[in-house]
Amino acid sequence: MTDLSVWLPRVVEAIRLGNARFGTFDPDPSLAVGDDVVEGAVARLTDRLADTYPFFHPRYVGQMLKPPHPAAVLGYTAAMLLNPNNHALDGGPATSQLEREVVARLAAMLGVDPFLGHLTSSGTIANLEALWVAREERPGTAVAYSADAHYTHARMCQVIGVPGVAVPTDAAGRMDVEALAAILADGSVGTVVATLGTTGLGALDPVDEIVDVARAHGVRVHVDAAYGGFFALVADDSEDGVPAAPFAAVARADSVVIDPHKHGLQPYGCGAVLFADPAVARHYLHDSPYTYFTSDDLHLGEISLECSRAGAAAAALWLTLEVVPLTGDGLGRALRAGLRGARTWHGLLAGSDVLVPFQRPELDIVTYLPRRSAMSEIDARTAHLAFAAADAPPAEQVHVAQYAVTPAALTARGHEVVVDRDSARICRSVVMKPESAAIVPELHARLESLLR
Ligand SMILES: *Cc1c(COP(=O)(O)O)cnc(C)c1O
Repeated sequence: MTDLSVWLPRVVEAIRLGNARFGTFDPDPSLAVGDDVVEGAVARLTDRLADTYPFFHPRYVGQMLKPPHPAAVLGYTAAMLLNPNNHALDGGPATSQLEREVVARLAAMLGVDPFLGHLTSSGTIANLEALWVAREERPGTAVAYSADAHYTHARMCQVIGVPGVAVPTDAAGRMDVEALAAILADGSVGTVVATLGTTGLGALDPVDEIVDVARAHGVRVHVDAAYGGFFALVADDSEDGVPAAPFAAVARADSVVIDPHKHGLQPYGCGAVLFADPAVARHYLHDSPYTYFTSDDLHLGEISLECSRAGAAAAALWLTLEVVPLTGDGLGRALRAGLRGARTWHGLLAGSDVLVPFQRPELDIVTYLPRRSAMSEIDARTAHLAFAAADAPPAEQVHVAQYAVTPAALTARGHEVVVDRDSARICRSVVMKPESAAIVPELHARLESLLR
């Protein structure tokens, strides 16, 4: 792996040399601090940061968390030393150009052509932007999303003042297309949100069928691919890939969101939104008395909901994609490893006498529960397992996440349950590091042993 202790000083030096072109000056003493002061403060910070879970470690298979690729750290640091603002070309000439290039690569990967798009500070903001444009395009109508869609869709519908409608899911956690068709029949819905990779289960809504149904009703389609979008690189129907059809259909949607800070190896602060119709830029029309002077080219701030945005985020993604390209042989290899890991784990769970899979994983998210029938016991055993797995010396800890399910969700998947409470926690593991995929049998054996 790229050694940051070698590369970070090189990047710092390169930026220092570039700055030196402009001539030296004396720093004002007002903010000068002695090395001894910095040393103490840094020691206190690193001490505080030791209070963490080992997101970087293969035995952390909990939430969607992992450190950025070293190239992202280098790219971010290099640009951050200059601190450009991608709101306007005046604020970030180089990084605005880098942003255009990476967004074009994301669009090419997702098959959106032509497109209008940009990076955002998160998937939530990117989805908000897509829903806001949807509202402007379809005033007075509601937005439909699956019951398993990210919780922020309902929240953002509230923010923009449009009704939100939850569409039931099927027994695999995908949007039920027949239920959607019934909901669209009365004409009250103007936009449907399809999720490629639900946050809980990694389920792939059938975007192809959803686009067909939506078009038949004159309804817009927004695809929330914040988590699953990068799996487009391996959407080839192969054994260690994912189904091609829902990903191919993104090309027919009106907008799509993808989070480079999830599977794109980036630090937090990097989402993206793409629109299929560049003419939606008209909804952003505003004048800024402060900016937009250096160029007649479109400034990113003229097509974004947000104003200031880190140019460093664009530089980080750009450098990452230079070394880990958006190809099947590039980032795709890491994604396939996670898929294989999840599928191996599913097989082990299906053959276990103490654990059982909740459902078959479509992406790299595995859900499973103790083999018990009472909701209360499933819940208690899950909590015990998650706690016991993490309650070990650091070098032996296993970290898994939990997920709340209803009796109906369990019975829909063939689990027989005694309903003595209306929800239970089950285990959820995101196998988003290839290193975790490689030790799945070890992880599984450890969890099994804790239930015996
Ligand atoms: C993570 C996620 C979001 C929210 O994105 P943030 O970057 O966390 O704001 C939205 N939708 C889906 C499907 C997600 O997985």
